[in-house]
Amino acid sequence: MTENNIQKIGIYPGSFDPITKGHLHIIRRASKLVDHLIIAVPDNTHNKSHMFSWDERVAMVKADLATMTGQHCEITVEKFDGLLVDYARAKGADCVYRGLRAISDFEYEFQMTGMNYALAPDVETVFLMASGQWQFVSSSFVKEIARLGGDVSEFLTPATAEKLRSKLQ
Ligand code: ADP
Repeated sequence: MTENNIQKIGIYPGSFDPITKGHLHIIRRASKLVDHLIIAVPDNTHNKSHMFSWDERVAMVKADLATMTGQHCEITVEKFDGLLVDYARAKGADCVYRGLRAISDFEYEFQMTGMNYALAPDVETVFLMASGQWQFVSSSFVKEIARLGGDVSEFLTPATAEKLRSKLQ
């Protein structure tokens, strides 16, 4: 809470297809910086093909958060559709959090931040660098490894790993 008792609200948007321990690490860290963190899951089926449905992705995030320890603020999970900046404004959010892994993330995130800033200069985007252990973890690689029969239990919670296993069967 700030001096004026105004809640600081942050949004962490992502596909979470599925949610990984890398995502959870970013969530825990972002939760130190705001009073309320909204994990926003977009539909965006029009430009990304997901393995899990919108409802399944939301359910996995909720389930993982329910067992997560060490968070510092209220965290809620919501669906959203449309422009992220419109959603952020509607929620009265102060900032959007994104995670940055390798240089490969940078180009896309840089462009998206630039476009969002042009549309809504009042909504700041804040980047949290992926920490060592999770730097190379991505939902797409996890899915690829699992498809090829590899063990991905290190990168997902047991509940999410189980969902991925049943999806691939
Ligand atoms: P999107 O489709 O929005 O990129 P993702 O679920 O792939 O959704 O990622 C959501 C956010 O989390 C992005 O900012 C991404 O860079 C970040 N992220 C994903 N995996 C990691 C990780 N292992 N460490 C840090 N940030 C991550």
